[in-house]
Amino acid sequence: MSVKMNRKIKRALAFGAVAGAALGVLITFAAASKAVDKKAEAFAKTEKTLKKEKKALEEQVEKQKSIEAAATLSTKGTDDWELLLVNDNYPLDQKYEPELEEIAEGRSVDARIAEDTKKMLSDAKEAGLKMYVLSAYRNYEDQKTVFNETMGDWINQGSTYLDAYEETKKSVAIPGYSEHATGLAMDIVSEDYQDLDDKQADTKESKWLAENCYKYGFILRYPSDKSDITGIVYEPWHYRYVGKEAAKEIMEKNITLEEYLGVA
Ligand SMILES: [Zn+2]
Repeated sequence: MSVKMNRKIKRALAFGAVAGAALGVLITFAAASKAVDKKAEAFAKTEKTLKKEKKALEEQVEKQKSIEAAATLSTKGTDDWELLLVNDNYPLDQKYEPELEEIAEGRSVDARIAEDTKKMLSDAKEAGLKMYVLSAYRNYEDQKTVFNETMGDWINQGSTYLDAYEETKKSVAIPGYSEHATGLAMDIVSEDYQDLDDKQADTKESKWLAENCYKYGFILRYPSDKSDITGIVYEPWHYRYVGKEAAKEIMEKNITLEEYLGVA
């Protein structure tokens, strides 16, 4: 979780505590005066809701803390950069910064996979396909901006902090939990159809990628039938470099990176 997010949640918690205390005083006062029973009831209800939200947020913070601790351990144990795992349970150190190389205009990847990536794209082009790299490396700050903007939209629409956070999480990876920050992932679409939805899978570009990506060390990272393992919905555009050997095995066995690494 980002520092900013943490601060946001902390602020929400503090607000909850202050509001709770303020309501407590009001309720006591109301009860003493015996004048506004109905109002007191409503306040009590609000207080209960606030307490519930506060508790949920606290749980969220706790969960995040333990996840971050686990991540530190997991990254220490492996020196195989190709197999770097980033998902809901394995965040990436926000200071992780791969050496980058541009593979398309304004799109960069980890320099170590640039050659394979360029080969894949040029082979596809030679086969008459029109690939478009919609997104490649995105750093922590970019991800944070996207996340905060989306969450802000939800709050502006009247959502609570918690609801806004949950809703945003469904469509935007939390900063630190996006594979794009590794420089090993790309969203590749057909130049003729650039929407990020299931129909992307029907384009000839996607079909070619699904069939051939492993030859260049890539896998389709979030298959349709593996959401319960990856934690991410079907994304027929998201390709992840894992190295040729792992890619072959993962695609042949129809497994996920999590399963390959034995952490599913
Ligand atoms: Zn992606």
